[in-house]
Amino acid sequence: MPTAIPPDPDPLSLAFAAARRAAAEGEVPVGAAVTRGGSVLAVAHNRPRALNDPTAHAEILAIRAACAAIGDARLIDCDLYVTLEPCPMCAGAISFARIRRLYFAAPDPKGGGVEHGPRVFNQPTCHHAPEVYGGLREAEAAGLLRAFFGSRRR
Ligand SMILES: [Zn+2]
Repeated sequence: MPTAIPPDPDPLSLAFAAARRAAAEGEVPVGAAVTRGGSVLAVAHNRPRALNDPTAHAEILAIRAACAAIGDARLIDCDLYVTLEPCPMCAGAISFARIRRLYFAAPDPKGGGVEHGPRVFNQPTCHHAPEVYGGLREAEAAGLLRAFFGSRRR
């Protein structure tokens, strides 16, 4: 049976590949990709340990790289794909970057800042909120995190 050809490139798959790379490097497996008009501007994985930088979350690194790629401090008409619900810091950066749409895989009840905790985009102090689509390939993302933290407890 012929399989449907996925959109090329599939940004969430790129984010998942980046998350697996993070796990291979001993980082919490989170990956992110920024796209505009069907082209991928940046892909990044979580790297706080490698960079000795607590802000080096996948979303922050992807936003920085995408801004550098287009030479702008705002990612107008850009979409962000990430394997985990962004934390409050990243949600703030997503707002400042003027990201158009946020797609994320697993919700993060313990550390998320979009649908949990401070719900950054719902605050009156938030001046730009992206459209949010959560729960995509959720089981796959949750499995990745479970495998990572399970293997580290042994
Ligand atoms: Zn974050």
